Amino acid sequence: MSVTAASLQKTVLLVEDNPHNRKIFSGMLTHSGFEVIEAEDGQQALDAVAKALPDVILMDLSIPGVDGWEVTRRLKADARTQPVPIIALTAHAMRGDEERARAAGCDHYLAKPISPKKVVEEVRKILKL
Ligand code: MN
Repeated sequence: MSVTAASLQKTVLLVEDNPHNRKIFSGMLTHSGFEVIEAEDGQQALDAVAKALPDVILMDLSIPGVDGWEVTRRLKADARTQPVPIIALTAHAMRGDEERARAAGCDHYLAKPISPKKVVEEVRKILKL
């Protein structure tokens, strides 16, 4: 996957508590030219968004503290953060999970396990790169 001028200007907030997943997703996104901000839990995600609006958020729904569903609900209830697209990532892949994610306000949904390459493809598609 090539680095493009467009992706170089885009920031992805990666919310993921699993260090291994965070490392591989972050690595692939950075390699593809994105600026990556990492958050390990819900509070870190909320703090990061308060500091600077990312272009897209990759949201692991199962995170410690304020969970991904609640972070999503809060971001979508705030006019400032509402427009930022949120891609839900969940390991559960249970029936009804996608509906729950969409009900919370997630714009897109990816079920884990998922390859980092597919994550980057989804981010590019959503940002129209
Ligand atoms: Mn998790």
